[in-house]
Amino acid sequence: MDIIVQKFGGSSVADAKKLGNVAGRVIDAYNEGQSVVVVVSAQGDTTDDLLEKAAEVNPSASKREMDVLLSTGEQISMSLLAMTIEKLGYPVVSLTGWQAGIVTNSKYGKARIKSINVERIIKELDSKRIVIVAGFQGLNKYDDITTLGRGGSDTTAVALAAGLHAKACEIYTDVDGVYTADPRIVKNAKKLNDISYDEMLELASLGANVLQNRSVEMASKYNVKLEVKSSFEKVPGTLIKGVSKVEKMLVRGVTKDDNVVLLSLVNIENTPGKAFKIFSMLAKENINVDVILQSIGRGDTKDITFTIDESNAVTAVKVLNDNLSMLGAQSIECARNISKVSVVGAGMASNPGVASLMFEALYDVGININMISTSEIKISVLIDQKDSEKAVRAIHDKFNLA
Ligand code: ADP
Ligand code: ASP
Ligand code: MG
Repeated sequence: MDIIVQKFGGSSVADAKKLGNVAGRVIDAYNEGQSVVVVVSAQGDTTDDLLEKAAEVNPSASKREMDVLLSTGEQISMSLLAMTIEKLGYPVVSLTGWQAGIVTNSKYGKARIKSINVERIIKELDSKRIVIVAGFQGLNKYDDITTLGRGGSDTTAVALAAGLHAKACEIYTDVDGVYTADPRIVKNAKKLNDISYDEMLELASLGANVLQNRSVEMASKYNVKLEVKSSFEKVPGTLIKGVSKVEKMLVRGVTKDDNVVLLSLVNIENTPGKAFKIFSMLAKENINVDVILQSIGRGDTKDITFTIDESNAVTAVKVLNDNLSMLGAQSIECARNISKVSVVGAGMASNPGVASLMFEALYDVGININMISTSEIKISVLIDQKDSEKAVRAIHDKFNLA
């Protein structure tokens, strides 16, 4: 059986007309003789609207109840798409994440898929039905609903493609591929024909939300043939694959992340074990720490500054504040008006000069750099958030990515 997984994002299923367009795409694949599994996101801004509704009744609702609520968005889309296809006379069935056999761990709000029991889907495909699955959701060991984190329908699609040994996983969205920068920010950004898993994983993790980073991680692990394409135009998209062909381009893309918060612990005692205490406390709360800088403070003290995702800021500040005296720190400072701007490219590992070119681009437009971090295939800088789009454009120009 030739199985194909197609995923349609929120803007692609936003209204009846768009659902009709998606149904057409799905039916085309079905008529070609393929077994089609479709993953859908919630319509348009539904997930954001649900978050607002929750905040109206209880701003500190439990994560369990939040997941019960958020999972409903995808269930609306799956049934409406099934009805649309039904009306066109094709056999179809819609399934929630749990009906589709998706089992996750128990981290409400950012659960990870642990296993998939594909029996039900296979049974439906054997009966020649088109199968529509609600993205972004699963069930944990307590039989509670979980969601997979923002953008999580991408990961549902890749996980199903892996579990079903599908021949391809197509991510349909409102752009026609992965670009050298967000085409909404950089007008002359260029579409990439292909990109390696490693580079795409960095781009996605550093703010290019065209794919959820976990979906790329999973595609790489299970060697899923992943393609980003347009829902609306029939043009070739971007293939994400093992190793992209050796490119002359040092840099594949520029991206920014505005959801970064900078925390500083000021005037910590300069004794061994302080960094260990701080970061193990955060790890216990499941908080990822990114760029870390330790610097000399006043007298015999030091400052430790680091970044975390905005969604973790409230918890992090609380935990650290509760333990300030134990950490021997004077105060904690929190800056929210910053962004992380990054360049990514496998080619930079063996080529010096990428960092200086990036810094020159920022100097040219008068943008000050607060912190810098590098790895083999990326360089990130922290800058004022008001400059982030200007920075992306300046760097994109400097590296001639257009
Ligand atoms: P969907 O609802 O289909 O999941 P998303 O909004 O999650 O769509 O992702 C698509 C968006 O990702 C595009 O509209 C685009 O603005 C943004 N984006 C950010 N960086 C890139 C990039 N490098 N290439 C393409 N799109 C990007
Ligand atoms: N609806 C969810 C979100 O808005 C999941 C997704 O779209 O992939 O994040
Ligand atoms: Mg998305």
